[in-house]
Amino acid sequence: MRAFGLNYTSRQLELREMPEPELEAPTEVLLRIREVGVCGTDRELALFRLGFPPAGEDFLILGHEALAEVIACGNGVRDLKPGDWVVPMVRRPCRPPCPSCARGRRDLCLAPVSHERGICGLHGYLAGYAVDEEEDLVRVPASLVDYAVLIEPLSVVEKAVETALRVHEPGARRALVLGAGPIGILAALVLELRGLEVAVHSLEPADHPRAALLAEAGIAYRQRIEGPEADILIEATGSADVTFAGIEQLAPLGVAVLLGADDASGRFPFRKLIVGNRAVIGSVNAGPGAFAAAVEDLGRFDRRILERLIRRLPLEAAAQSILGPPEVAPKRVHVVAD
Ligand SMILES: [Zn+2]
Ligand SMILES: [Zn+2]
Repeated sequence: MRAFGLNYTSRQLELREMPEPELEAPTEVLLRIREVGVCGTDRELALFRLGFPPAGEDFLILGHEALAEVIACGNGVRDLKPGDWVVPMVRRPCRPPCPSCARGRRDLCLAPVSHERGICGLHGYLAGYAVDEEEDLVRVPASLVDYAVLIEPLSVVEKAVETALRVHEPGARRALVLGAGPIGILAALVLELRGLEVAVHSLEPADHPRAALLAEAGIAYRQRIEGPEADILIEATGSADVTFAGIEQLAPLGVAVLLGADDASGRFPFRKLIVGNRAVIGSVNAGPGAFAAAVEDLGRFDRRILERLIRRLPLEAAAQSILGPPEVAPKRVHVVAD
């Protein structure tokens, strides 16, 4: 099968031939990969800022935002059957399980190193086929297949929004999202579904297609961090400066969840946090509950908006997606098999 990934010897991206994986345990499922989305994590991997290949190998198949079709099941598989559509979770529980993994929250794993498909120590999904344990797969209704490649990034957003609303005292009304990439736009859509008044801050000009897309979804777009203070803040920009500015914009009792900000030194408003009972929280990855919420919310979003979030390209263009400049359509998705 064709597989796209990172060669750790030549330190380059490459498309190569690899043997197809086979079922080895009764609880395993053989998948044919339909499509895979690319994100900032893939760019960080290609810069060797994070991640590592499977033990004993010098190549890592990239791709962690996958949609796949079930081709075959081991005889111990209970709920999936050939023809079903699935999205794999990215992180694998540690063994023996830490307290978080033991209670089903692999996203909160306490092991020093987590294994994540397409990122850390396990091959990803930019390849013709893959094998996974049934417990690592999330079933997707056939009606959502056209947009289901968004479920993995959406699961990260679901965890962040759930955390923010759980920590906030009752009565959160206004939300501010930093960043108009796929994560920022999905966060705005989820917060709007939860009944909040949402604004997105990003640097793109006001006539940029991403701003137009947000306007069509009824979400305010601002190039400056201004307006009323926010009860909920979701950071999806990567920029430390923007994050500092956003935290200054938190209302009393406000909760900020950070998803991508870089490390920085700067003025951190401890007194403001204390006096206003404000909270700043980091969040990464997603557990089964967040994936289930993502499947549910995906079915509730306006499909015209989802359509405009995705640009589909062939597998051969994956290097361009990872190394090239950002483009207008928020999410580049590579079609592996039709
Ligand atoms: Zn991603
Ligand atoms: Zn663990």
